[in-house]
Amino acid sequence: MTLQAGTPAATTDQVEAADASAQGGANTLAAKIANGARLTRADGLQLYESVDLLELGEWARERAATLSGDGIFTNVNCHINLTNVCKASCSYCGFSRKEGEADAYVLTAEAIADRARAARAQGVTEFHLVGGLHPTLPLSYFLDAFRLLASEVPDASIKAFTAVEVDFYAERDGRAVADVLADLADAGVVSITGGGAEIFEPSVRRRVVGHNVTWERWAAVHRAAHEIGMRTSATMLYGHIESPADRVDHVLRLRELQDETGGFDVFVPLRFQPQARLADRPAPTGVEALRVFAASRLLLDNVPHIKVFSVMHGPSLSQLALDFGADDIEGTIAEYEITEDLTGMSATAQPSEKRDTAENDAAENDTSGEGCFGGPASGGAIVPDGMTAADLIRREFATLIGETGRRPLERDTGYNVSAATSGAPETATTTPAASATAAPSASGEAA
Ligand code: SF4
Repeated sequence: MTLQAGTPAATTDQVEAADASAQGGANTLAAKIANGARLTRADGLQLYESVDLLELGEWARERAATLSGDGIFTNVNCHINLTNVCKASCSYCGFSRKEGEADAYVLTAEAIADRARAARAQGVTEFHLVGGLHPTLPLSYFLDAFRLLASEVPDASIKAFTAVEVDFYAERDGRAVADVLADLADAGVVSITGGGAEIFEPSVRRRVVGHNVTWERWAAVHRAAHEIGMRTSATMLYGHIESPADRVDHVLRLRELQDETGGFDVFVPLRFQPQARLADRPAPTGVEALRVFAASRLLLDNVPHIKVFSVMHGPSLSQLALDFGADDIEGTIAEYEITEDLTGMSATAQPSEKRDTAENDAAENDTSGEGCFGGPASGGAIVPDGMTAADLIRREFATLIGETGRRPLERDTGYNVSAATSGAPETATTTPAASATAAPSASGEAA
C-alpha cells in the first residue's frame, strides 16, 4: 500500500491486524519500506531499537526525496513571545512566570510594533507568536497584537498560538474553539503553530505537562483549524522521559488525524533541553536525534515535510538531519542593534529593545529557544555591513544544504517557494544566528 500525503488510509489498528494475519512474515521491514508500505507500531519500534543507523538514514533520505526531490525548504522567521505569564507549570519549561513575579512581562503594543519594524529591516518573512496561558489577559490583547503586526509587516505571514493556547482561551472565556480560531483568522493569523504537543501518550503527558490539554483536545483544535482551511504543523518534544514506544505512539496518532483531515504541512521534532524540573535529565544525543528524524519520516507517511529547527539542534546536527529525513530547515533571527566594530567591516548583534529591567531580565532568562529578544537563541551574531540577519541565515543554510548535495528552496508559511538559491555559497566568515549554540529548550511551543 503506497500512501501519498493526505490520502485516506487504513487505521493503524487495521494495518496491525493485516500484518498479524500475514503468515511467514515475507514483508520484512526493508521490503515494506522499499515498497512504500505503511508501517506498523511494531515496525516503528524496530526503527528505533534494531535498525542500523546509517541504513535507517538512507531509507529516510530516500523517502524524503520522493516527496521533495532534491530541494530542502528554508524559512527565516522571527519568534515573539507576547507574554511569559502562564497558569500552567510544565515540568520542562523554564520560560513561564506567574502573574506578579518580578520578571513576568506582557509586551506592549509599542514593543510589538518596534519588533515588527526591526524584523522587517532584518528580512523576516514569517512571525511565530506564542506565549504563556495568561489567566486574565483578554483575548482582544492578542488579536490587537496580531492586527498590529499584520499592518506593520503586511508582506510577512503570521503563525500564532499553540493548540493549547487556543483551547485555554476558549475554555477560560466560555467560547467555542472554532470561534476563537475564526477570530485569529480575522486578525490575520494564517496558521496556528504545532506546539503544545510534547508527548501525547497519556501517562507520560500527565508527568511532563502542567495543563489539562490532552491529545484529544489538542487534536480537536487542529481538526477545527483544518476545517476552516488553516494548514497547521505538529511537533513532538523528544528526549526527556518518553520511550521509543511513546514516540511511535505520538506520530501514529498524528498519522491517523492526518488521514482524517490532511491539514498538516509539517512535523517538527523538538529537542529537549534539560531545565526546570527536568534539569537533571541529559539532553538527547545526536544519534537519538537522528533516529527521531528518520523514524518519524518513515512512519509519518502522509505528512509532506519534516522540519529541523536549527536553533535547537545546532548547525551540525541540523545538517545531518537533512540526511535523515528532514527536508525543511528553519532559522530564527533575533533583533539586532547594529554597531560597527573596530574594523568597520562588521557589527555585533545586540538586543535592541530598551525594555524595563524586569523585561530585560526575562529576555536574559528566556530559555524558551524562541528568541527574538536577544536571548540565548540569538547568539552573538555578527552582521557584516550591507547584510541583514536573514541574509546570514540564508547564507548558512545555503552552505549546510549545498554540502548535502541538495538545493535550498526558500518558502513561505504555506510551502510556496518564493526564491531558490543556486550555486555554491561563499564560506561564512561570521557566526550567524542560526549557528548559535543550541538554545536551552523550547517551551514545547517552537515551530
Ligand atoms: S510550556 Fe507553555 S503551557 Fe507549559 S508552563 Fe511553559 S508556557 Fe506554560
